[in-house]
Amino acid sequence: MPVTQVPVVLSFEDARRTVEQHASRVRQPKVEPVDLLSAAGRVLAEPIQADRNLPPFPRSTRDGYAVRAADVARVPATLDVLGEIKAGESLENIPKHIGSVQAASIMTGAPVPYGADAVVMVEYSAQQGNRVEIQRSVAPGENIVPSGAEAKQGSVLVERGVRLNDAAIALAASAGQSRVRVYNRPQVAVLTTGDEIVSIDANPGPTQIRNSNSYSLAVQIRKAGGEPVLLPIAPDEPRKLRTLIEEGMKSDLLLMTGGVSMGRYDLVEQVLTELHAEFFFTGAKIQPGRPVVFGKCGAGAPAREKPGTYFFGLPGNPVSTMVTFELFARPILEALAGMSLRKLQFTYAKLKSEIRVKPGLRRFLPAMLSGEFEASLVELVPWQGSGDVAATARANCYIVIPSDRDRFPAGEFVAILSR
Ligand code: AMP
Ligand code: MG
Repeated sequence: MPVTQVPVVLSFEDARRTVEQHASRVRQPKVEPVDLLSAAGRVLAEPIQADRNLPPFPRSTRDGYAVRAADVARVPATLDVLGEIKAGESLENIPKHIGSVQAASIMTGAPVPYGADAVVMVEYSAQQGNRVEIQRSVAPGENIVPSGAEAKQGSVLVERGVRLNDAAIALAASAGQSRVRVYNRPQVAVLTTGDEIVSIDANPGPTQIRNSNSYSLAVQIRKAGGEPVLLPIAPDEPRKLRTLIEEGMKSDLLLMTGGVSMGRYDLVEQVLTELHAEFFFTGAKIQPGRPVVFGKCGAGAPAREKPGTYFFGLPGNPVSTMVTFELFARPILEALAGMSLRKLQFTYAKLKSEIRVKPGLRRFLPAMLSGEFEASLVELVPWQGSGDVAATARANCYIVIPSDRDRFPAGEFVAILSR
């Protein structure tokens, strides 16, 4: 049966925009409460608020003397020491007020008493009995973080839709949240296709290839907050392929690899067309990964309560599969996981040696970033093309090549995408 689908090949930017538009419309997943530590890496389903000011009191950031800055405008200045305030000092032990030419010895993390407006570091002082000589002036506010300067009571510390990292978990802990509400992880079906592909437990025949894509995808899916569901390998045969695609559509997202190029046995688009899938694009002007397909299936079917399942047909070459997941599937998966949309983040590094390419495609080429600090340099990893997963395993980033130039001299700063 001929493919009835009209090809829609977009520029990288348009394809990415298409994905982002769909990602912004995805329905929010279900919510579950979990222990704080189990929430690491999960997506926050409701904002975490500050239950009190951060810091809760004006906090000294140094060991030294709480003073009135005006009293030490001219130094040396000698002040009366009213007492010592350590971190966690109870209120009744803290001097009620620091008056003119008075000071209190104070430790890092301790509350600054009323009247004092700065802390002089202990290094610039000499205490003898109840008197201290201050040897250096301080500006008002110096070495004090005012109460609420980091966050006001009731303000949002971590927004809904944020993937909880170390700092976010620390904030939740500081707000006393031993349990937090997070979104359920979406289930992502992985369907690899191809008559030549065999399971990694099988003994491959001389022309057979072990299935590596399901494994790279499973890793990428987990990293992006999803739960991979590996389906059996689909042969290049429409009926069996269709059964497995229908199975995959029961998940929250379906990722297929292989079978989306122009070959006679590339049947994925044909089967999806039979299933009345809607295609948003059937190619993007990129390398690797040009034949990437994005669409939705099952929307509008009255019997189903799901609003349709997004799918990607990722090209089967292993590097194409990895790159197109990162560029296109990841935003949809993150949205299904409840995450707020993030733009692609590029960093820039200096090219070690010249790159020449044919213009017309935006390229994401495996590369190695090495060196430190200002001496960092990036260069392409020699590779045999988008099937060369060995080269990609040696790479630690991709150099992003714009589509409108053919030469990039050594020393130029180029965009890189980490991997
Ligand atoms: P296709 O996109 O189906 O034309 O496949 C392109 C290339 O990727 C072929 O050389 C396939 O053998 C290879 N390939 C497809 N699927 C996989 C897979 N799951 N694991 C490893 N290589 C694959
Ligand atoms: Mg194939």
